[in-house]
Amino acid sequence: MAAKLFIVSAPSGAGKTTLVNAVLKRCHGLVYSISHTTRKPRQGEVHGRDYFFTDKAQFMEMVASGQMLEWAQVHENCYGTSGLFVQNQLAAGQSVLLDIDVQGGRQIMDSGLNPVSIFIMPPSLEILEQRLRGRGTDAEEVIRKRLDNAKGEIDQKSFYAHVVVNDVLDEAVAELIDIIDRETAN
Ligand code: 5GP
Repeated sequence: MAAKLFIVSAPSGAGKTTLVNAVLKRCHGLVYSISHTTRKPRQGEVHGRDYFFTDKAQFMEMVASGQMLEWAQVHENCYGTSGLFVQNQLAAGQSVLLDIDVQGGRQIMDSGLNPVSIFIMPPSLEILEQRLRGRGTDAEEVIRKRLDNAKGEIDQKSFYAHVVVNDVLDEAVAELIDIIDRETAN
């Protein structure tokens, strides 16, 4: 089994978090990289499980001291991946999954780490909008911004090696697991 670095990107509302959680439950050889963010926790989110919630000064200090493997500003907040965590896991023979945006995804693709890149597509923009609204966690202005951002992100899907359409959740989960199994088998 080869240790691989997986990047999963998607416009928000594509159902990526649900998909990734289902995959992590079934792929025991895969470890999730918990990102750092300056975003405030949503209801139910736990520090150290969903994200490491940090303030802007602390975040920028991590960037300045070279601790971030990649980082990006997404929807006015900063998000970044710890380089040490990823390198330690890969060195120990452990595959790692990064749930990151397209800007971060492109940085990892250019890093020489030879990632396996997967883009999750919503079935349509209409369904994406319904999902964003149905989540009920974000204000109208935030939803508008995320929809605009989604269009730009979808434009970048051609940089990704695999595209999975998240229409029927179980089928998308199976497709993702199949990609991971095939990539880690060689
Ligand atoms: P949310 O605020 O909805 O949890 O995430 C917003 C976006 O930030 C998602 O597209 C998510 O994949 C992305 N994101 C989460 N962590 C990271 C990270 O460490 N780096 C980058 N570049 N994007 C991230």
